[in-house]
Amino acid sequence: MKTIRDLNLENKKVLIRCDLNVPIIDGKITDNTRIIESLKTINYVLEHNGKVILLSHLGRVKEENDLKKTTLEPVAKELEKILNKKVIFIKETRGKNLEEAINKMKNKEIILMENTRYEDLDNKKESKNDNELGKYWASLGEVFINDAFGTLHREHASNVGIASNLPNNSGVGFLIEKELSKLKELKTPDHPFIVIMGGAKVSDKIGIIKSLVTKADKILTSGGIATTFLHALNYNVGKSLIDKNSLDFCKEILKNHSEKIVLPKDFRVSEDFSDESPSKIKNISNITDEEMTLDIGLETIENYKEILKPAKIVFWNGPLGVYEFSNYQNGTKEILTYLTNNNIKTILGGGDVVAASKVLGLKDKVYHPSTGGGATLSYLENENLPGLKIIK
Ligand code: AMP
Repeated sequence: MKTIRDLNLENKKVLIRCDLNVPIIDGKITDNTRIIESLKTINYVLEHNGKVILLSHLGRVKEENDLKKTTLEPVAKELEKILNKKVIFIKETRGKNLEEAINKMKNKEIILMENTRYEDLDNKKESKNDNELGKYWASLGEVFINDAFGTLHREHASNVGIASNLPNNSGVGFLIEKELSKLKELKTPDHPFIVIMGGAKVSDKIGIIKSLVTKADKILTSGGIATTFLHALNYNVGKSLIDKNSLDFCKEILKNHSEKIVLPKDFRVSEDFSDESPSKIKNISNITDEEMTLDIGLETIENYKEILKPAKIVFWNGPLGVYEFSNYQNGTKEILTYLTNNNIKTILGGGDVVAASKVLGLKDKVYHPSTGGGATLSYLENENLPGLKIIK
C-alpha cells in the first residue's frame, strides 16, 4: 500500500483527509485528541515543502440548523494554536473563494476548508460519494493523503471519491499506518487472546463477536451484550438493556462456543438510569423486574482479573458499565487498572472505551487506544475497508 513516504510532496498541493471530528460544546473543543493524532502527517507535508489542504467531516449535517454547530472554524483556531502557525480557514466546501485561496498558496502554508458534510445538505453528496464532488475536490490538489482512519469503512467523496480521481498520487498517512500495524497483531494473535465486550449497542457487535469467537480464547461480557446473553439463557435481567433481535444469535453462539463466552456473576443494579438513585450489587439470579444492570459486580471483577492474568493480548470494545456516572465506573476502572498495572498488551477498540480510559486517566498507559470505532470493528471483522481498498 502506498504511504505518504512514497509520494513526492515538494511544491505540491497536498489534500489531506483528516479525522478532525472533535466534540464541541458551545463552540469549545472538549477533547482535541483527534487534532493531535493528525499532526504527524500535517507536519511531515510541511517539512517536505508541500502546501497543506485539509479536509474533514464534523458531526452529521442533515438540515440547515446543523450548519452552525458543525462548522470546523473552532478546529482551525485550535490547530493554529497547537502548530503556532497560521491556518487559513475557508468557509466553503467549493467555489471561487476556495479555489483562489488554494491557487495563491505558498509552500508550507495550511488551508482548512469547511466541514465536508456541508455537502450532505444537497442530496448527501459527501456521504453518498457523489462522482462530481470527488472529482472536484481531487482537482483542487495534486497529491492525496488519506489519514482519517475513523472513516475508512465508509465510501465517501472525501476519501474514496478523491482517491479514485488521483489514482497514482494517493497514499495513506501516519495515523492509518500506525492503526493498521497495531490492529494486525489481532489477526494472528498470541494466546491467550482475551476479548472484552461491553457497551450498549448489541446488534452492532454481532459481526465482531462472530469473527473473534473462533480466534479468542475467552470473550468477557458486560452491558447490553451480557444481559442479552443472560436473557437468552432465561435469567431475569429486569429493565436492563436487551436486544430482542439478537437473541437467536446469542443462543447460537452459546450452543457452539459456550466455553468461550464468559458472563458476569453479579452486577451493580439500580431502579433508574441515573447516578442519584440508590444502587446495590446483586447476583445474576436475584435481579428483580424493577432493576437494571449498570455495572459489573465485585465477584465478576475478580473473576475477570483471574481470566485476564495470563493474557498475551486483549481486545476491548465497549465499557463494562455506564462510566459516565461515577457510581458505575468501577468495573471499567478496576479492569483497566489491572491491565495497565500488569503491562498486559491491550488494544481498545475506539469510541466509548477510549473515552472512558481518558476519563479514568489511564489512556496513556494503554498499548493502543484505537481512534477507530466502526472502522476498527470493520477491519477486524472482514478487512474490507473501502477507503483502503481504493489506495491499495
Ligand atoms: P457502545 O457504543 O455500544 O460501546 O456503548 C457505549 C455506551 O454503553 C456507554 O455510553 C455506556 O454508558 C453504555 N453502557 C455500558 N454498560 C451499560 C449498561 N449496563 N447499561 C446501559 N448502558 C451501558
